[in-house]
Amino acid sequence: MDSSPPLREKKDSFHDLPIVFQCENCRTIIGDSFASVSSNSTLKMVTLDRVTKKVRIRDKLVSSSHTTDLGSSYNPLACETCNSDLGRIYRTTTIHLDELRDKFSLYVDRLSCYQIGSEEQKASLSSAAIPSVHYLQQQIIKLQAVSVSLNGRLMEIEDRLKEDSS
Ligand SMILES: [Zn+2]
Repeated sequence: MDSSPPLREKKDSFHDLPIVFQCENCRTIIGDSFASVSSNSTLKMVTLDRVTKKVRIRDKLVSSSHTTDLGSSYNPLACETCNSDLGRIYRTTTIHLDELRDKFSLYVDRLSCYQIGSEEQKASLSSAAIPSVHYLQQQIIKLQAVSVSLNGRLMEIEDRLKEDSS
């Protein structure tokens, strides 16, 4: 049998507990943190390199007119179950958003997060609860052109989750 220590054990293993991302509207599971994850505080998006089949890529190609991603175009992403807008998959990007191209960028405020083993329906996304903050930071460093305050963003997510659950 498997002799690895139980997941519940506190210490470092807590940080490695995977997070499941769900549609905020209908709780359909749309991805998890086993995917390569990065985040962009300016765009308020979490980017995964893979998602579940419950994420539908809309056919239309949208050209962005926002300052942050001006000149980019993307296919909107929708929840297969409830049809909510979930995010976008960039097809053409400016250089500083190159890392997002052809990946699944999900709007933070459209996501609900559940941390496996946390015993809560909604895991608090505090810096202590998110799995391997260090890993996320490594990913963010790769987005060198983008200045990201991970803790600030996490607090923002946490605040949103509190708002949503109140
Ligand atoms: Zn949904």
